[in-house]
Amino acid sequence: MSLTFNFSGKVVLITGSSAGIGAATAFSRAGANVVVTGRRADKVSEVAKECLKVSPKQSKALEVVADVTKPEDLRRLVDTTIKHFGKLDVLVNNAGAGTVTSINNKDFYETYLKVMQINLNSVVYLTHICVEHLEKTKGNVINISSIGAMGPFQGCTPYCMAKCAMDMFTKCMAAELGPKRIRVNVINPGPIRTEFMEAMGMPKEMSDNAFKACENLTVLGRVGESVEVGDSILYLASDHAAFITGTNVIVDGGCVVAYNTNADILKTN
Ligand code: NDP
Repeated sequence: MSLTFNFSGKVVLITGSSAGIGAATAFSRAGANVVVTGRRADKVSEVAKECLKVSPKQSKALEVVADVTKPEDLRRLVDTTIKHFGKLDVLVNNAGAGTVTSINNKDFYETYLKVMQINLNSVVYLTHICVEHLEKTKGNVINISSIGAMGPFQGCTPYCMAKCAMDMFTKCMAAELGPKRIRVNVINPGPIRTEFMEAMGMPKEMSDNAFKACENLTVLGRVGESVEVGDSILYLASDHAAFITGTNVIVDGGCVVAYNTNADILKTN
């Protein structure tokens, strides 16, 4: 038996929905009114049009161009959402970006602050200003972390730290907001084929090669697709997950398992 999702009448705000995992999350198909947002206006529009194409007739897609690193943009994002739809049921904190750096780099600390701003501080602030609205709808929050929160990626210290803190933020929020009937969960994706590495400055060919190399990191022998994370987001946001809060859902094709299996210290022969 397959699960069916019905988000009719619900309002879902997904940051970083102009591309990748955020864009592939099929709330529109399930009847939700969605807020599509990102910095690139053309991409935001493209995704919003696609949402309307796949959604039932009465669903809407609101376009808001915003940079999550700017608190004033986040306030405008929430204000516009509430003005337009009158409420908020689901917040997906998905926007994020990685950066390669080393503690020896001259600009390490500046890079660290930037990575924290986009991957962590924006999430904390947006959640903070959404809680009053989620309280009214008994809604839920889904944070998109990474398996980088579960073990270090060489050269990605600030990113791993930000995602690790996001996991703890999730648990703290689940504990604090549970009595208000707001659920808070986190998803830790492994390698998922998106523009993520290109956004880090890699040329397309190098990004393709990097994802190819990632196939060996999973026990399933492939990288994941955006929709495979999107489906988990949909599940956690739905009533099928009504008793699930404060938990990590790892969508990584077995990367974490493979990492532990390959750890020399655990090898018996
Ligand atoms: P993409 O680069 O494909 O998409 C990132 C999205 O975030 C885009 O919509 C982008 O929109 C938006 N974004 C980036 N910076 C900002 C900003 N400053 N303000 C507003 N929006 C912003 O990456 P993914 O879809 O892969 O990443 C989604 C999430 O998944 C991230 O949090 C990432 O850390 C996490 N993740 C991804 C993995 C992967 O292998 N792909 C693995 C583990 C975790 P725009 O450019 O228009 O602003």
